[in-house]
Amino acid sequence: MTAQKILIVEDEQAIREMTAFHLSRAGYAVLEAQNCREARALLADNRPDLALIDWMLPDMSGLELTRTLKRDKEFEDLAIIMLTARAEERDKVSGLEGGADDYITKPFSPRELVARIKAVLRRAVNASDELVSAGVLEIDAAGHRVLSSGREIKLGPTEYRLLHFLVTHAERVYSRTQLLDRVWGANVYVEERTVDVHVRRLRKALTDAGADEYIQTVRGAGYRFSTRDV
Ligand code: CA
Repeated sequence: MTAQKILIVEDEQAIREMTAFHLSRAGYAVLEAQNCREARALLADNRPDLALIDWMLPDMSGLELTRTLKRDKEFEDLAIIMLTARAEERDKVSGLEGGADDYITKPFSPRELVARIKAVLRRAVNASDELVSAGVLEIDAAGHRVLSSGREIKLGPTEYRLLHFLVTHAERVYSRTQLLDRVWGANVYVEERTVDVHVRRLRKALTDAGADEYIQTVRGAGYRFSTRDV
């Protein structure tokens, strides 16, 4: 099993590095961002299991970032723990209202942090521990794996997210712009052609399983996932 991935969004370098150090030692893969902008950029290409988001960040508050992510269909299964300073403790309740799964007050011990992360991840896995099947494909959302007849189909992170999005929104047509928005995330400046490139890669990966035809091009409109009429 691959390591679970944690995104740390914290502008104070000492705290961020200390946290990253302890989390890697606990066996997690760690991504680091100093502000919300960097966090969004990392989220465009990575699918962390959990984000640790500091309350006070230079560009946007961590609470606002949490709200935005929790409202976004693509990130609704991302577990979020907010980091708060003691003075902000009274705001804890609104932190949880913003959609955070838990909060932890600074300064915290590494052991406490890891215990909290484990607890939140356990809850998150139970909530999304479902197999989505579509035709010959099975998507193991908890493990971020795609299977066909019990065999794993290797996909890059973007292809995985694209497929997951299309399968969970099957039979509907999405334009390239809509896919960029939903799969790559808003505020990401990539060309629409990028969508075509990843669709091509995804189809190629699905060819052996005979599932490439599920990804249909709708002329002049965009793409659709369908297991009918294939
Ligand atoms: Ca801060």
